[in-house]
Amino acid sequence: MKRSLLLCMLLACPAPAAELVPGKSVFGEHQYIEYIPGDLPLVVCSPHGGRETPESIPDRTQGVVQPDGNTQELARTFAEVVHARTGHHMHLIISNLHRKELDPNREIVEAAQGSPIAEKAWNEYHDFVAQACAATVKQHGVAFFIDLHGQSHPDVRVELGYQHSARDLAADDEQLNGDAYLAKSSIQLIAAQSKEAYSQIVRGPASFGALLEKKGFFAAPSPRMPSPQEPFFMGGYTVRRYCLAKNNVAGLQIETYKPKLRDTQESRQKFAEALVDVLEEYLPARLAIQLDGTPVTSKTTR
Ligand SMILES: [Zn+2]
Repeated sequence: MKRSLLLCMLLACPAPAAELVPGKSVFGEHQYIEYIPGDLPLVVCSPHGGRETPESIPDRTQGVVQPDGNTQELARTFAEVVHARTGHHMHLIISNLHRKELDPNREIVEAAQGSPIAEKAWNEYHDFVAQACAATVKQHGVAFFIDLHGQSHPDVRVELGYQHSARDLAADDEQLNGDAYLAKSSIQLIAAQSKEAYSQIVRGPASFGALLEKKGFFAAPSPRMPSPQEPFFMGGYTVRRYCLAKNNVAGLQIETYKPKLRDTQESRQKFAEALVDVLEEYLPARLAIQLDGTPVTSKTTR
C-alpha cells in the first residue's frame, strides 16, 4: 500500500471528488438525485417530475404533493436537443423522487418534512445546483438558469416566473420600471446590462415570452398577455436562491402547460426545439453570450 493512501486512510480523508464529464450522470445516494454536468452557459433543474416512492421516506403531509407530469421527460428531451444543436451539454439537475417524498423547490423544512433521507437528497440536489452554477460562471462568466415545471392552469400559457406575481404584473410599465420591482427580479443581471426599460425586458417585443409566442407557444408575461390573471406561478425557492446578479446568474421558472407541449414525446420534442430557438436569440441579446458559450462581440450586443 502506498504511504500516501495509508496516511489518507488513517486520517480519514474524504474520497476525492469524481471527475465530472459533460453529459455523464453522477448521482447522490440511492440515485435519488441526478446531476448531468455540462459545458454550456445553461443550468436547468427538474424538481417535480420524479416517480420514485421509497418506503424509507414518509409521505409529505403539508404543501403540494402532486407531481408535474412528464416534466422529467421534457427536461431530458430538452438536454438532448441542446446537445444535438450545439454539440455540447447543458447542466441538468433532476430529482428522481416523487414530489410526495421531496420537494426540492421549497426550503428544507417544507421540502423534506423531517425525513433525514429526504433532507440528504435535498442537500445533494442543492449542492449540485450550486456546483453547476459556480462551474458555469467560472467557465463562461455568466450562467442562465431555468427551473422547469409543469402546471394545469385553466388559462393555457407557459408561465414565466421572474419572481413577479400576477399582482406585480398588473402594474403599468412605469411602475414596473421602479426599483421595488427590480429588487426582487430573477433577471437583475440582465437588467443591469441592458439599455432597455425593465418592463420591456419582462414583456416587450424581444422578451422571453415574446420569443416563445413567435415559436407558437402561448406565454405570459408577453406583449399579448402583459398582465396574466391568477392563478399564475411567479417562480419559487430555487430561482430566488440562485438567480442573483451578484453571482452572475440570471434566469426564471418556466411553468409549461400540458396539451400539445408535454403530453407526448412528439410535443415535448417540438417544445424543446422551440426553447432552444428562443435561447439562441435571447442569450446573445441579453447576456452577450451564444448558447454554445461563444462570447458576443460588443458590436452586436444590444
Ligand atoms: Zn413544479
